[in-house]
Amino acid sequence: MQAGPYRVRAVETGRFRLDGGAMFGTVPKVLWEKSNPPDARNRIELALRCLLAEGEGRRILVDAGVGGATFGPKEAEMYAVEDKGPGLDPASITDVVLTHLHFDHAGGAVTQGRPTFPNATYWVQRRNLENAKHPNEREKASYLPQTWQVLEASGRLNLVDGPAEILPGIHAIPSDGHTVGMQLVRVGPVVYCADLIPLTAHVRVPFTMGYDIHPGLLIEEKRRLLEQGEKEGWILFFEHDPSVAACRIARDKVRGHFVAGTPVEMAA
Ligand SMILES: [Zn+2]
Repeated sequence: MQAGPYRVRAVETGRFRLDGGAMFGTVPKVLWEKSNPPDARNRIELALRCLLAEGEGRRILVDAGVGGATFGPKEAEMYAVEDKGPGLDPASITDVVLTHLHFDHAGGAVTQGRPTFPNATYWVQRRNLENAKHPNEREKASYLPQTWQVLEASGRLNLVDGPAEILPGIHAIPSDGHTVGMQLVRVGPVVYCADLIPLTAHVRVPFTMGYDIHPGLLIEEKRRLLEQGEKEGWILFFEHDPSVAACRIARDKVRGHFVAGTPVEMAA
């Protein structure tokens, strides 16, 4: 679809699985097992969905999937990683905007010790890079040092400070509830929600993940985003939902809380 000056579409890079309980924090299983059925090991299926924005002489990729090279066989088996990559000519990508440096978002930015996209400028929030270098023990396993080390050493990593128009029409919306220094990316009406709203089920404001570092803060950030998005007609883009790439913002007809609305086609 057209979003501002860019043509945007979803780019599926693969699938993986995480524990359903961890994905839904304090939400009881009876409330999520229908929408996200768990396997025999209680894992639910997750997409690794990037966004490609083309226009203004640029080809911008938002997040880079999990990649393959940075994983050991043990983790690959545990997370049931199926990585097929973005299927794009790596040399054609001019910019890679990383929402944060967790492995399932930034792993694909590096391949065998080199930036995967040789001509691209990489963008991440400065505070997220600092956080990746000094992670707390709870999320340490999610930050793979080789990713940020390679990007930083390449001289192609640009650091963003807070809310910013990173590139013309590409807006960073900072968010600290999931991890310190994450950024959502808005292109026209399309908001790439990263781990603020990973699945359609998480449009419900109190539905947070066990992984979130500051769930109370995340709830406030999500409410603010949905209220502004509702006013301005934003489309929510989901990185991890296995079946819905994007949807409108809607309200429960009886109780009035936010829910996922009509799906929006993002394949082309
Ligand atoms: Zn994350």
